[in-house]
Amino acid sequence: MRYTKMCTEKGIIMKIVETIQEVREQVKEWRKQGLSVGLVPTMGYLHEGHKSLIDCAVSENDKVVVSVFVNPMQFGPKEDLASYPRDLDRDAALCENAGADLIFHPEPEEMYHEDFSSFVDMNTLTGGLCGKTRPTHFRGVCTVVSKLFHIVTPDKAYFGQKDAQQLAVIRHMVSDLNFGLEIVGCPIVREEDGLAKSSRNTYLNEDERKAALILSKSLGKGKALLEAGETDAAKLKAVIENTLATEPLASVDYVEVVDWDSLKPIEIVNGSVLVAIAVYIGKTRLIDNIIWQKEMR
Ligand code: AMP
Repeated sequence: MRYTKMCTEKGIIMKIVETIQEVREQVKEWRKQGLSVGLVPTMGYLHEGHKSLIDCAVSENDKVVVSVFVNPMQFGPKEDLASYPRDLDRDAALCENAGADLIFHPEPEEMYHEDFSSFVDMNTLTGGLCGKTRPTHFRGVCTVVSKLFHIVTPDKAYFGQKDAQQLAVIRHMVSDLNFGLEIVGCPIVREEDGLAKSSRNTYLNEDERKAALILSKSLGKGKALLEAGETDAAKLKAVIENTLATEPLASVDYVEVVDWDSLKPIEIVNGSVLVAIAVYIGKTRLIDNIIWQKEMR
């Protein structure tokens, strides 16, 4: 077990553990004291977006566990598992300053033993949007998140709207499988110029970083249309696609307007709507979205 330095502000010593047993022992101790536990699952290389989840967890729970695990199961064979950025020392400093109590940082072998063969999958919600180009992604996400829920047994777990489909999938899984915890969704944290914060932004070179602004810009145009009362989903998609097409470094994976509950494509905007996009900037695939609630008149 590793102990990071004292957090002078709050007088907390944050632990970093690598085994499931150590997490279980710690949580058991907290439970004996009647303390509540929040969980923030991450893949590390933490930024202000992750920090907003940790801040929320710290404000709502007695103890907070942050998992830092680049989950091989949610990457496709041609995806960026090997190059995904990692920096545990930096992550530990951010977690400690935010007031987290424990980092769970397992090796892949700790999470998936040699003859691992049980999976959590979902028939609805996972076929469209990111599931189209990443067909095994949500099986990997549901499996690892289920394992984390069993290991940490949190009262609440925190997920970002940045990965809106993931948030919807996890909520659905928790309901289907009767996990006894609350899922808290947190808003997207952006750079000052509007780019949604992401660990993958570090892949972008200077030109690509500028080009990446086209994601939030196109969604901004979509939002303005919605605010002006547009309800035709095809028109909304066209405006976003046309805006994305003005950026030579951008190539669109998808632009979708879907119902925020079912994630099914809609023709007319009504109720709660997710406008989600995935765009390659050079070789880097970035996602962004807005959730829009049409006011009932
Ligand atoms: P990741 O490390 O990318 O798997 O993300 C871990 C959690 O942080 C997920 O629930 C993400 O949705 C959330 N997250 C990532 N980026 C942001 C952001 N810019 N704003 C809010 N939440 C975020």
